[in-house]
Amino acid sequence: MDRADGLAHYRKRFVGAAGDVVYFDGNSLGRPPLAAIERVERFLRDDWGGRLIRGWDEAWMQLPYEIGDRIGRAVIDAKAGQTVIGDSTTVLLYKLARAAVDAQLARDPGRNEIVVDTDNFPTDRYVLDGIAKERGVRLRWIDVDTSGGVTPEQLANAVGPATALVVLSHVAYRSAYLADARELTRIAHDAGALILWDLCHSAGSVPVQADLWGFDLAVGCTYKYLNGGPGSPAFAYVRDDLQAAIRQPIQGWMGAADVFAMGPEYAPAPGIRRFVSGTPPIVGMLAMEETLAMIEEAGMRAIRAKSVALTSFAIAVADEWLAPLGVTLASPLDPEQRGSHVTLQHPAMREVTARLWQRDVIPDYRDPGGLRIGLSPLSTSFEEVHRGLAATRDTLKTVLLERAGLA
Ligand SMILES: *Cc1c(COP(=O)(O)O)cnc(C)c1O
Repeated sequence: MDRADGLAHYRKRFVGAAGDVVYFDGNSLGRPPLAAIERVERFLRDDWGGRLIRGWDEAWMQLPYEIGDRIGRAVIDAKAGQTVIGDSTTVLLYKLARAAVDAQLARDPGRNEIVVDTDNFPTDRYVLDGIAKERGVRLRWIDVDTSGGVTPEQLANAVGPATALVVLSHVAYRSAYLADARELTRIAHDAGALILWDLCHSAGSVPVQADLWGFDLAVGCTYKYLNGGPGSPAFAYVRDDLQAAIRQPIQGWMGAADVFAMGPEYAPAPGIRRFVSGTPPIVGMLAMEETLAMIEEAGMRAIRAKSVALTSFAIAVADEWLAPLGVTLASPLDPEQRGSHVTLQHPAMREVTARLWQRDVIPDYRDPGGLRIGLSPLSTSFEEVHRGLAATRDTLKTVLLERAGLA
């Protein structure tokens, strides 16, 4: 399978990929691209060290917008001027959700609900809970199965004339359930609501068509499948005809109409820049550019095809080796409904995960009993999946024997 894989050569372009570590966590923190080492070093020496503050006059000021447009083009199919690199996902989510809720309340005070699912990522739930308290609106929860995600029927039942905003993840962090983003967006719009998509687990692994699918707002991580490095800043998407109509709550100088006028009052910049607050974290943006170059070269369609092949292979091997030990699949079986990770469930998985880490096999553990295997299409090989699942099988067997008092 590796020999037949047209994207196999990308693996060599990541630090450490040739080593013995089995890395099943590229969906939490992607491997560093080799080229990023040189890029960051050159930046520190020549750009920061050489240009000093003059660097802001040139490239740096534009970088959040340039990279934003590049993510728009290569990753989420958004035309220029709608995507920007900003703060963390959490902070961007707050800014955009708050802006959307404020705009809806101003238009109609009866639009006082935010719809979100009970298994959305914790930060999303916490941020929305905070906004609800701040603005006196209510959260309407969609109760989802932890091995699935929000269906069109469930959303249709939850939205109505009171819905201000819907916030959903495109790929569920626990189950990898891939939501039908186009259909769910349509349902939200039919109810007069705005929708904010969290693309953290899809950006760089699953094609997104933000413009075509009619997204209003979106946020996404850059340190997962975009390999930007620990804490690299997130991106935000705001549909162009919505930009002037909403106002984000963290009014900083970098989002002001005239940054260096340093005037007495804040007036938001036109366009996407009004969603920026403070000085952009330039060093944190450099590594992801190397992944964006690879994505531009490979194309999201090929990346998605490899991702489907990897997750399907993992499921087939798990079926053969792990199902007889009592392991079940807590991710959708249908690849059309699955992102780029697979969650395998068994009550012993917490223990198994801890032992696997000790032998350099690095999956993630998520309750209840989920061994989460993230397969990053550009840096994961089929051989790596095979080796990691063999280690999982052996470790699980040992744990089960010990628990039965037989070892
Ligand atoms: C990883 C992840 C986040 C992380 O947010 P940070 O602010 O970067 O910590 C948010 N949402 C989802 C769905 C994620 O998977």
